[in-house]
Amino acid sequence: MSPHWLFWLAALSAAWAVEQKEQSIESFENYYNEIHVDDEEAEAKTRNAVQSPLQRWPGKKLFYRIASDYTAEEASNVRTALSTFNEQTCLEFEELAEGGASAGRRYVYYKKAPNVCGTRVGYNVLQPFGPHDVLLNERCLAQPGVIQHETLHVLGLYHEQSRPDRDAYVQIDYDNIPRKFWSQFMTQKQTTTYDVPYDYESIMHYSKNAFAKDPTKPTIRAWVDGEAVEREMGQVRGPSEGDLTKIRIMYKCEEVV
Ligand SMILES: [Zn+2]
Repeated sequence: MSPHWLFWLAALSAAWAVEQKEQSIESFENYYNEIHVDDEEAEAKTRNAVQSPLQRWPGKKLFYRIASDYTAEEASNVRTALSTFNEQTCLEFEELAEGGASAGRRYVYYKKAPNVCGTRVGYNVLQPFGPHDVLLNERCLAQPGVIQHETLHVLGLYHEQSRPDRDAYVQIDYDNIPRKFWSQFMTQKQTTTYDVPYDYESIMHYSKNAFAKDPTKPTIRAWVDGEAVEREMGQVRGPSEGDLTKIRIMYKCEEVV
């Protein structure tokens, strides 16, 4: 399994996810943690925004394809999810009809998977043609917000709480997190925040009980000026203004072409 994949195992969600966190983003998500956490590539997964221009999609137009076995409603949820990016950023997602050509370019391919949701983070410059798979099971497909979360991974965003500056904004309680999930909470210096303020409302942010051994206690505490504060985290309603701002900066939406 490629180390660049983040996987969501909705149907196989652990009890902690099913019991309490039905609507939190990480309840859709689990993680094939096959790589040792000291591995440099494993660490690379947990940064926030990719820095290398090579990991961004070339141009502002992205083609996408919806698998033919999606129901009409599921396909409609994908289109609804992507329309947000079309309307609120300079990116243009254009759907390829079945058998339609992507002009020799790589395209995002929304595929069904029985119990996995996941995708590779960022553009893969070594594979400029063919599909960039986004695997979504029925539960993920039912929520445009989850499709948007996944699509933001495709565009090059990791999770918000993995930002290199996050320790100024959240406290992580590792005692309440199983060792195998610690990699979910690592930071790395080699990503950038594009000077966008830390965003508790990001759709890329986990909830306060994410991966908790004891779900009655938080694993992520919002932290402002040395004090714990209450903040909503882990929403799946849609991209926050901060998420959209990052995409606009990454894809140079202000630049005149
Ligand atoms: Zn994710």
